[in-house]
Amino acid sequence: MTDIIDGDAVAQSVREDLSTAIDQLADAGVQPSLATVLMSDDPASETYVSMKQDDCAEVGIEAIDIDIDPGADASELYDTIDDLNGDENVNGILVQMPVPDHVSDREVLRAIDPRKDVDGFHPENVGRLVAGDARYKPCTPHGIQKLVESAGVDTEGKDAVVVGRSDIVGKPMANLLIQKAPGGNATTTVCHSRTQNLAEKTRNADILVAAAGVPEMIDGDMVGEGATVIDVGINRVEADTEKGYELVGDVDYESAKEVAGAITPVPGGVGPMTRAMLLYNTVKAAGLQHDIDVDLP
Ligand code: NAD
Repeated sequence: MTDIIDGDAVAQSVREDLSTAIDQLADAGVQPSLATVLMSDDPASETYVSMKQDDCAEVGIEAIDIDIDPGADASELYDTIDDLNGDENVNGILVQMPVPDHVSDREVLRAIDPRKDVDGFHPENVGRLVAGDARYKPCTPHGIQKLVESAGVDTEGKDAVVVGRSDIVGKPMANLLIQKAPGGNATTTVCHSRTQNLAEKTRNADILVAAAGVPEMIDGDMVGEGATVIDVGINRVEADTEKGYELVGDVDYESAKEVAGAITPVPGGVGPMTRAMLLYNTVKAAGLQHDIDVDLP
């Protein structure tokens, strides 16, 4: 029987387990807070931000919602980030990507105080992750580690294959999988758009993480018997639904499920975990900034 990994349930348990740390902070008079900055009128980005705000409210994190006109000068965004960096009541800062073309996403990520960079994308935090001394693990790969652990899969000594080499998913995922630490110690291959004979590599994986952004590109023939398959993809494809589209992953779920030992669905797999781990990092940030030793799940 294939184990269907329930991301909603694991995310819910992370949120519940965070209450210990949130109570410890409250005992010291601290309420963690996250500022989300949106410089876009893209409906998907607006939805992502409002979901993050709702998540914060649910666990008792203060959510500060800042909207910047997408047509505004980049300096308006930098000034906002400066203010948030200097505001001791703000523990985490998240600038929703993508930013408009006239703003450099790279510069934006560098402008955020690395101690408040709860996405974990600032070069200082990337460096710390690579060095095995992560301050904030990026939310999606961290959530995947928790999902794999929840499925009772030990990564140590296993062959892991990550399809995708983006800065937000593929690279940090591979870095976590090779760390000499729980959830790591895997022999890890990173595949990407120039990889040849992809199926040969994915079939060898004990743990397969698909993060290419290509709808259903990994089918059952590309999955090894009993593998743990983590589908990161969120792709809109045209469909005969009310909205005119449906969301599918990078994995062809039906055929992969026949072969995999465990698999995440889309939706309800990695997505909820990404959101839960943002809360985790925000609570961690509040503890670090107030020098309070909190117990994190
Ligand atoms: P990206 O476009 O930045 O990177 C995609 C990577 O896949 C690239 O490194 C590219 O080399 C590789 N790739 C593309 N086509 C390939 C192919 N045919 N074969 C092998 N490799 C190929 O994307 P991203 O930001 O890493 O996101 C990947 C997917 O995950 C997207 O669908 C995105 O929406 C989704 N995503 C989901 C979550 C979540 O919380 N579930 C979070 C982030 C991203």
